[in-house]
Amino acid sequence: MSGPVDVDALVAEARVAIAAADTTEDFRHVAAVVSGKKSALVEASRALGSMDPDARKELGRQLHEARATVDGLLEARRTAIRYAELSAEMAASRLDLTEYVPGEAAGPVARGHLHLVSQTRDALEDVFVGMGFEVAEGPEIESDWYNFGALNIPPAHPARGMWDTFYLHLGEPESTLLRTHTSPVQIHLMERAVLDGTLPIHSVMPGRCYRRDTPDARHLAVFHQIEGLVVDRGITFADLAGTIETFTAAYFGPDIHSRLRPAYFPFTEPSAEFEVTCTICKGEGCRTCSQTGWIELGGCGMVDPAVFASVGIDADEWTGFAFGFGIDRCAQMRHQIADMRALIENDIRFLRQF
Ligand SMILES: [Zn+2]
Repeated sequence: MSGPVDVDALVAEARVAIAAADTTEDFRHVAAVVSGKKSALVEASRALGSMDPDARKELGRQLHEARATVDGLLEARRTAIRYAELSAEMAASRLDLTEYVPGEAAGPVARGHLHLVSQTRDALEDVFVGMGFEVAEGPEIESDWYNFGALNIPPAHPARGMWDTFYLHLGEPESTLLRTHTSPVQIHLMERAVLDGTLPIHSVMPGRCYRRDTPDARHLAVFHQIEGLVVDRGITFADLAGTIETFTAAYFGPDIHSRLRPAYFPFTEPSAEFEVTCTICKGEGCRTCSQTGWIELGGCGMVDPAVFASVGIDADEWTGFAFGFGIDRCAQMRHQIADMRALIENDIRFLRQF
């Protein structure tokens, strides 16, 4: 006992009451009881006035310490209760992402698919790989020499004109341009094969090409080609014709055939355009094929000795053929697409049909 009030007992009671408070509401009630205006501690302080100075000083010191202790206990308990309540609130409002399935309400999520041009390129590659060709690629930015000069296209050739070609740099030391065909890849392949001593060549070269064409139903300024190149000993025009016919049946189906018509290209001699049976009328004759039953697909021919000379291949030992056609045109013919511009308009209603 320490004077008329048992301060230690008051603190002990307060400690038990504070520890028992679980909620903010409980806490407010307990705080009023142990340290409010009507609490035992405050009541005890009021008694100080009627005490003699020594006893007052001693009790005052004890009450001061007791208040500090109780205030500390209250503060710690308030923090603990607030933390527990916040945690409970967060737990209650947390989104369980493991139970959330995106798009579930809208049904299964659709996966996209390759663009028709990519599908066509893949299908064409598959056909040629099945025939023993390798697939080669090259840069889309070329020098004048690789795009024109090495392919026997002389400086005065109209294909070099500003109206046909996207030049990036004109003039010295050499013009650079967006390739107008995939043929420069043939030059790269032949140069490498000569350097590495890896002739013969049996390759196809698919890729993007650029020409200053105003887009219309059958032309795009950015389009895709696939070319083929065979360089070997004893290759003849019959090998070329057989390759074109085998490809035509493999890609378009057994009802579709090919034929060659004499033509001129700077990089092949002799040269031919190749046509395939009209896929719409199957050769009967219709508006699309101008009643001929045939549709032109691409060009081909035997590699010109001048091209072999520009890459250092001996034309007396090696012969070869090359062919090329448009991948977009192929897709257009096989799927009977009226206007090629649909391929680049990104209209999902068109694209999802394929
Ligand atoms: Zn037709």
